[in-house]
Amino acid sequence: MAGSIVSSNQIAFGPQQVDLDRCVHCGLCLNACPTYRELGLEMDSPRGRIYQMVQVAGGAPITQSYQEHISLCLACRGCETACPSGVEYGRLVEAARAEIEARVRRGFFSRLVRGFVFHKLLPSRGALTVAGTLLYLYEACGLKALVRGLSFFKLLGGLGNLARLAPSAEPPFFFSQIGRTFPPQDKKRRYRVAFLAGCVANISFARLNEATVRVLQKNGCEVVVPDHQNCCGALHVHAGLREEARSLARQNIDAVLGGRYDAIITNAAGCGSTLKEYDELLHDDPAYAAKARQFSSQMRDVTEFLASIELNPALGAIPAIVTYQDSCHLAHGQKVRSAPRQLLARIPQLQFQEMPFSDICCGSAGIYNVVQNAMSMQILSHKMENVNLTGASLIATANPGCMLQLQAGVRQHGTGQRVMHVVELLDLAYRNAK
Ligand code: SF4
Ligand code: SF4
Repeated sequence: MAGSIVSSNQIAFGPQQVDLDRCVHCGLCLNACPTYRELGLEMDSPRGRIYQMVQVAGGAPITQSYQEHISLCLACRGCETACPSGVEYGRLVEAARAEIEARVRRGFFSRLVRGFVFHKLLPSRGALTVAGTLLYLYEACGLKALVRGLSFFKLLGGLGNLARLAPSAEPPFFFSQIGRTFPPQDKKRRYRVAFLAGCVANISFARLNEATVRVLQKNGCEVVVPDHQNCCGALHVHAGLREEARSLARQNIDAVLGGRYDAIITNAAGCGSTLKEYDELLHDDPAYAAKARQFSSQMRDVTEFLASIELNPALGAIPAIVTYQDSCHLAHGQKVRSAPRQLLARIPQLQFQEMPFSDICCGSAGIYNVVQNAMSMQILSHKMENVNLTGASLIATANPGCMLQLQAGVRQHGTGQRVMHVVELLDLAYRNAK
């Protein structure tokens, strides 16, 4: 992360002392931390990063080294789960990144790319549709397969890894469904839910979004896909762009306000974690604080929602060995661990095989696999070793970002598993029941 350093104490925010003081430096979090497990370096452990935050809070300058150690953190919050002192590490690292963002001027190219991605691309249906169409044409004309076949990616080194991680375009894009209301199956309404479809997911996980709607319909839900919804702002929060995230949060709250929903649903654990924290993001906004609290209290991950209701039991068989990768933002961020496993257990003939260290990050972590590609790939290699110990032919997870990462792992290591969202498995099981 290149950039000129602005002197300390110019900005009054950053990790709060009261949050930093909770850490008693016991080190019980170290082995839960993927970067510490890979590098064995204190400065790349949760305790070491907190120590560095304390120094900066005490007036030390924001150095290049500090930026690198904070940037190498996946914000996976595995340390939060392991910590007996209740350190809210996710909040600390987001505040540290926001402080860096405010006090360090980035280089021209970095500002250009970030400005385009965070301000122009992610919040714009039009820009995402153009990008998705270009991506589709690149794939459809055979160029993608050609460069893969020529081992072109190998010649590109790190850039080749990024190309492997790029999502595919899935036309017709789900944007066309935004604003629609889907009736419950058999017209018997048990619940009325709002579905937030994401941003890139409308392009690259359009079939997953459709499967999510179908499974909710099968379970007596009237599914509203509210118009005027937008990107949830999770990637903005992780990048330290909290003001931009607040603006997106207000748009999403306005989109569902007054809709009289039983729940607001997402199928992306990474988004859900931020959507559930809108109350914290907007707690200083007098016009939105109360609305944000109501919004957050209604937010549910789709697996959490389905496991909490009486599930339609008309599930057909899926005769396969399946393992499950916990999404960090579901397991550590939202404390949802049993719901996806309970749902998988309901599918006839599905043999569930737990993998070792299923709740250690796969290395995806939002755009971490792009900005910290080497570390991400190292973490992914260990993840694939653990997957392979299970003998599973199918890896289930509950987050589109993890799906992309695991798919890249399967391709890179030639292990042949299929990667599916838990909801896609339920959808398949309902279809198999016919
Ligand atoms: S959030 Fe994850 S990568 Fe960052 S310090 Fe905690 S465990 Fe380590
Ligand atoms: S973050 Fe928690 S577990 Fe880690 S060193 Fe501090 S108090 Fe101990």
